[in-house]
Amino acid sequence: MDNIKNIKIIIDILEKHFHYAERTTLNRMRQKPDAFKILISCLLSLRTQDNTTERISIELFKIADTPEKILKLPLKKLEKIIFSSGHYHKKALTLKHVSKEIIKRFNNKVPDTKEELLSIKGIGPKTANIVLNFAFNQPVLPIDTHCHRIPNRLGWIKTKTPEKTEKELEKILPKQYWFEFNGIFVLFGKTICQPISPWCSKCPINDFCPKIGVEKSR
Ligand code: SF4
Repeated sequence: MDNIKNIKIIIDILEKHFHYAERTTLNRMRQKPDAFKILISCLLSLRTQDNTTERISIELFKIADTPEKILKLPLKKLEKIIFSSGHYHKKALTLKHVSKEIIKRFNNKVPDTKEELLSIKGIGPKTANIVLNFAFNQPVLPIDTHCHRIPNRLGWIKTKTPEKTEKELEKILPKQYWFEFNGIFVLFGKTICQPISPWCSKCPINDFCPKIGVEKSR
């Protein structure tokens, strides 16, 4: 319970520490939201470095920034563009399938409900929430590995899966933080509270963290 009391203090410190402009590619896209581009960037970002996703997204959107254009792009050409994002063949097929579904079932518009987004094969809960949050400004919590790991280390929650984390955070995280939570925690997880050997010695919230489950830190 004491750990939960510190939520506001902790997020306020992290908000100041991780400046808005430095947060993820997707966060920057929020400034000029285009639901299709946000969806495609999110699909490309799976298991990929943020700067790679940004570079590939820019390259891809120069020649194909709509569902029709992605569909018209020959598969080999699409694979070549997104090659460095890894799993390029699977991702290219997903991009084509998602584009096809958006045209066929949703009148060429990215749907704005979780149920509809999840009904498209290739879109999972994290991607759906990213689109709803970043493109449609809906108060939902996109939970990736960092957003799952860190609240557990902080003792805010005790969960085993990102899905459960989403549900538990919905209960305890003040709504005013929902829009920024993902951007802050992803950057925090990549730079300081890393999965193995987190940098507790240079962590701005060290004094507030019980370091639950952390076996080795730097
Ligand atoms: S003190 Fe360590 S475990 Fe706790 S949030 Fe900071 S880096 Fe993560």
